[in-house]
Amino acid sequence: MRRKAFLHGALAVLVFLMGCAHPTPSTTLPDTGTFKTVKVHERVYALVGELGQRSPSNLGNNMTAGFIIGDDGVVVIDTSGSRAGAEVMVKAIRAVTDKPIRWAVNTGGQDHRWLGNDYFRSVQGARIIAAEEGLKDQRARGFQQMEMARRNIGEAGFAGTKEVHADTTFKGRHRLDVKGVQVELIYTGGAHTGGDLWVWLPAERIVFAGDSVFAERLLGIQPGLGFQWIAALERLRDELKPVTVIPGHGNVTTLDKALKDSLGYLLMLRDGSRKLIVDGAFDPVEVAEKLDQSAFSYLANFDDKRFRGQNAVRMAEEVFALQK
Ligand SMILES: [Zn+2]
Repeated sequence: MRRKAFLHGALAVLVFLMGCAHPTPSTTLPDTGTFKTVKVHERVYALVGELGQRSPSNLGNNMTAGFIIGDDGVVVIDTSGSRAGAEVMVKAIRAVTDKPIRWAVNTGGQDHRWLGNDYFRSVQGARIIAAEEGLKDQRARGFQQMEMARRNIGEAGFAGTKEVHADTTFKGRHRLDVKGVQVELIYTGGAHTGGDLWVWLPAERIVFAGDSVFAERLLGIQPGLGFQWIAALERLRDELKPVTVIPGHGNVTTLDKALKDSLGYLLMLRDGSRKLIVDGAFDPVEVAEKLDQSAFSYLANFDDKRFRGQNAVRMAEEVFALQK
């Protein structure tokens, strides 16, 4: 708890030093079920879930989601990994505001970004929005994700969850018609999944980064997506330049910290692979065995050797492919 308080204090000081237009320190409200609610700005809240795996107790909410309060309604960022998990999200939102939930954004194609869509649409009346590529990914992997989530969360927790897809999709950029706050959706070009998007508040310079940013937790590369993930994070750094990053996993953080844990890790894998290949490594498996990843041992889930080895193999595959 003390470390958490220190981190929030440090964040507030950093935001202040950076001369930000909204030096409001983030406040942590009491836990609501599977989430810790963090007030990031007058209208912006993060719902910080667990860093571990999907489980019966977290109902698939092992991610960071959030919401934005407009004059005319609430924008929900991500809809949970199950119907019951979506109900928990709404309870957390209702602890802060009773405005109607009118928009629900899926920041990507991974289960915990969209498996609560049905609840937000049919019970709350929200319009669901995703990037076109995000919808494609959800359709392609929906069945597999539903089965995996059911296994991890258990029949009881997963009961009533249905595969429901976005009402609106977009390419490039899409402005939400919410009043009192500018909310822009920007397609990342693909990061952790092919359809990841950013929810961008240009006036406050706050970004909901979805699965493009893992903070404090080891990320996982999907086959063939390592290089495009690097490109997306370089764009986040160079074009958006957010002051506050609400990651897809982990606590609310600064751009520097977000980049260190995500882009830093990806670049270490890419550059480390390149060097080992130049030095004669024969294949991706050899690269993974030899690559020293210990600079990132502070990340949650780093101890899972298979998981980090898989990241190295996948990045090395892309480096090898470029050389052919
Ligand atoms: Zn995720």
